[in-house]
Parts: sequence; C-alpha cells; structure tokens
Amino acid sequence: MAEVSLHRVAKSYGSIEILRDIDLTVGDGEFVVFVGPSGCGKSTLLRTIAGLEDVSAGELRIGGRRVNELPPADRKIAMVFQSYALYPHMSVYKNMAFGLKFAKTDKAEVDRRVRQAAEILKLSALLHRKPRELSGGQRQRVAIGRAIVRNPSVFLFDEPLSNLDAALRVNTRLEIAKLHRDLGATMIYVTHDQVEAMTLASKIVVLNHGRIEQIGAPLELYRNPCNLFVAGFIGSPRMNFIKGQVRVVDGDRIAIGFAGAEAVVEIAHDGLEAGDEVTVGIRPEHMTDQGPDTIPLDGRIDAVERLGEASYIYMKLASGDDVIVRATGDVEAFPGEPFTAHLSRQALHAFDATGRSVRGHMRAS
Ligand code: ADP
Ligand code: MG
Repeated sequence: MAEVSLHRVAKSYGSIEILRDIDLTVGDGEFVVFVGPSGCGKSTLLRTIAGLEDVSAGELRIGGRRVNELPPADRKIAMVFQSYALYPHMSVYKNMAFGLKFAKTDKAEVDRRVRQAAEILKLSALLHRKPRELSGGQRQRVAIGRAIVRNPSVFLFDEPLSNLDAALRVNTRLEIAKLHRDLGATMIYVTHDQVEAMTLASKIVVLNHGRIEQIGAPLELYRNPCNLFVAGFIGSPRMNFIKGQVRVVDGDRIAIGFAGAEAVVEIAHDGLEAGDEVTVGIRPEHMTDQGPDTIPLDGRIDAVERLGEASYIYMKLASGDDVIVRATGDVEAFPGEPFTAHLSRQALHAFDATGRSVRGHMRAS
C-alpha cells in the first residue's frame, strides 16, 4: 500500500500541453476517482502515474519515493484497462499467471496467488476457460485478477466498466467497491461517468482541459461546487443555470434578481457590485419543494419524461429561461400546460462572471 502524490505535474506532447499544474495527494488506502469529459486528460494522468508516459515537469511520488525516472515495472502499480487486453489463446488461469511467470515468481507462489484472486473474484470455476468463453463482466474480472495477483501498492483503473452493459456495470461497480474494502489498497479510477465517480470515490478529482477544477468528497462537490464547470458536471440531470444580476450589495450579502424573482445570497468572497452579471444555479431536484422557503417561478411545459420513480419536466420560464424540474413519478404535468416550479432558497447557487462560485450559504430573504 502506498500514498501517491503529484506536485506541479505537467505533460506536453510537443508544444501541446495536455496536463497542467497537477497538485494532488492520494492517501494510502484511498479510492480516488478522476472524472471529466472525454479528452480532458484523465487517461494521460493515469498513464503518467503508471509510468507509461513521462512527465514533462513536476514530481511524482509513490510511497514517499520519487518515481519520475522509474520504469513502470518497478513502481508497484497494476493497471486495468477498458479493453481487457486478455490473451485470447490462454486460459483464465494462464492470463492471470502470465505477468508473475514473466517476473520469474516461484511456481507454487504463482498458483497460490492466482487461486486466491480467483476466489476473491468468483472465478474459481472458470480458471480453465478461454476469454471467448466468458461474458464481458467475467473478462473484466479476469483483467482485475491479473492486477490483484501482482499484489500492487496501487491499483489504476481506466474506465474498466465502459464496455459492459448497464446491469453489469452496476454489478461490477459494486464488486470493485467491495474489492477496495477487502484489499484496503490505494486505488485510482478513471471514468467519464459521474455516477461511477459519486458511488465509488472517497475523493473525486474533477478534471477539465488538463487541469484540476476541484477535489473533494462526492457530496462536498455536489453541495459546494467551486465553479460552473463542476456544478454542471456533478449531478444528473445537470444543474439549471439562469442568468441573474446583482441588485444590492450589503456587507457579506447580495440580493440577486433572476427570472423575475429575487433572492439574497450570503457571499463567500467580495468584489461583486450592483449591476454585475451572475449565474444562478439550481438543481432539478430542488425545484419542487413546497415549503415556505421557496421561490415560485411560473412557466410552460415543453416536455415530460416519466422514469417511474420521478418525472423530468422540461419547462420554459416566463423569463425565457429553459429549466429541468425533477418532480414525482405521478406528477400532473403535460406538455403545453402552465407549471410553477418552487425553488428551494437553501439550494440556490450563484456564480460570478468568471464562473467562480460566490455562495456562502443561502438565507431566506
Ligand atoms: P481522456 O482519457 O480524459 O479522454 P486523454 O488523456 O486520453 O483524455 O487525452 C487527453 C488529450 O491528450 C486529448 O486531447 C488527446 O487527443 C491528447 N493525446 C493523448 N495522447 C496523445 C499523444 N500520444 N500525442 C498527442 N496527443 C495526445
Ligand atoms: Mg481516457
């Protein structure tokens, strides 16, 4: 087991900067998820930690030791990819044993480790099979088994569930979470799927254009996104954004006008003036609260999606803003009809013109 730390790590291909200024510590035994849109640099960052890519600048440490110059095989890491990369002509057993044999591990020890990993992953009955005789989920378990037998200090996963169908994804996700609990190993996991990030991570790193936007526990990011990007990325359906304007600044509070309504926000930093443009953020699930502390906004329904346990109402507010409201499964709502959303004041966010969150916490006004 080991801590992984990155200090001002950067990566360029020629003149193209892929990663910039990455400062990050992954604690011993922690489960950290890198999440971000496709092309933002998640795989590159993981491959850098693995040693499959050199860093262009900065320092990388594993278990307290600088590893910038260390080849992948000496870093005590194991990586699991989206494409399982199994040897098609080898049995499950041989696929799992291959890396160890290659490293000239004692035969009895190889056998012990393969059988133990197979036990953990419920593959014991399948050891003689070839990859083509396995389901996608079983193949991915073999790929994970191949990592386990190496007894690494750090597991690296790059979108390991992306090739699985929805039901298997949920299953395998739970298995990976259990694996982490059982092994207690440091794990770094890359995904573009924010549900995977929310459910697996003890700490999420949100990446965008090769930079870290925010690091935090899943609910911390959900509750207190530091900027518009994180606010829009974490949560599904994503947070609604409505144009607003600062009306009055009064010490550490500002009154914001938006969509024909007004709310007072306790601000976390100063520099805002009356007349400044802001963006008000409100999640779909916080728009049907029927309490005294809500802001009613009228509009008309464009479409309704019924998911059973919930309905997503796509509506246009009287102000012209389009928003999504998460309502109950059986809500009386139909396209073309008027609808009134009820925004929970406590759940409002506000962002300045640069996209930075200005929210302290909300107060009723
Ligand atoms: P992600 O895994 O988040 O989808 P990647 O880390 O694979 O993103 O890629 C990040 C960026 O780096 C992309 O714009 C990609 O085109 C670029 N990139 C990746 N590998 C190379 C390479 N070998 N040479 C040049 N550019 C690369
Ligand atoms: Mg990738």
